[in-house]
Amino acid sequence: MATPAISHEPLIDTFGRVHDNLRISVTDRCNIRCYYCMPETGVEFMERSEILSFEEIERFVRVAASLGVTKLRVTGGEPLVRKDLPDLIARLIAIPGINDLALTTNAVLMPQLARPLYDAGLRRINVHLDTLDRERFLHITRRDDLDKVLEGIALCRELGYGPIKLNAVAVKGLTEPDVVPIARFCRENNIEPRFIEFMPLDAQQIWDRNKVLLADDIIATLSREISPLIEIPDRDPRAPATEYRYADGGGRVGFIASVSKPFCLNCNRLRLTSDGKLRYCLFAIEEADVKALLRGGAPDQDIAAVIRSNVSEKWLGHEINSAKFVPPPRPMYAIGG
Ligand code: SF4
Repeated sequence: MATPAISHEPLIDTFGRVHDNLRISVTDRCNIRCYYCMPETGVEFMERSEILSFEEIERFVRVAASLGVTKLRVTGGEPLVRKDLPDLIARLIAIPGINDLALTTNAVLMPQLARPLYDAGLRRINVHLDTLDRERFLHITRRDDLDKVLEGIALCRELGYGPIKLNAVAVKGLTEPDVVPIARFCRENNIEPRFIEFMPLDAQQIWDRNKVLLADDIIATLSREISPLIEIPDRDPRAPATEYRYADGGGRVGFIASVSKPFCLNCNRLRLTSDGKLRYCLFAIEEADVKALLRGGAPDQDIAAVIRSNVSEKWLGHEINSAKFVPPPRPMYAIGG
């Protein structure tokens, strides 16, 4: 019996949300140890053989693109620790239908990789950096690499990457002193900061609602200390960040307020983990195994069918603010931002 052709209907879930954005974690490994993400020692990373090859990732993305996925974000762990990453970037950018690719990185290895990644076609990056203070960087990441990160950012600016955004995780009792310096640094360097509310995705489960530095509190601080912030009304509702601009024209600031202002109603994102699991949500409990299909000789139609059924099973959104909330069994570093 002939294998049914792939339907190219868009990926619409039962709530009417169209899914065209795929986040790809290319490794669970990282070269720093942010204490709100993973323990300092004793992290068991996946075996190399468990991780999807570039060919397998590329094939999966080709199928997803045929179902309407147009935007990709490459994440980790820390994606730059994945060997030959520029090769993967070039392959993904060349896939028909993909018209946007971004990368989230801690930039520690950007001094070495900024040029080859740029040559591979990468332009949009989000750099994860919570503080400009060396001591606090050391305290948060347990690594003394702030200089490399700043050097990496400077090189990316020099090479012409853009837009460059800076992701800062906002943790109460830790990063308040960094909010204004980070915002000033971004204004001076034409970088857009993204303040991200701390989410319950950490391996050691230290998350607590009282540790969430709320977007509204940061908006109040920046408006008082730098310039009033004005919300930008016509933003893309599917984009996770709510965007503001400084009244004095000094740039824009984004807030990813997953805890205080969930944005699940417009979610358009799917996630592929480095070991080949498809997740319809950052906080999903269930996952669909696509690695078995990719390695088992399954036709593209079967992979397409799994993507489509995963979307059809998608829930309305995370339950962080309800008593029903169950943290996902997989920590952030094995999911990717
Ligand atoms: S929590 Fe899940 S459903 Fe909500 S925006 Fe994030 S990925 Fe989408």
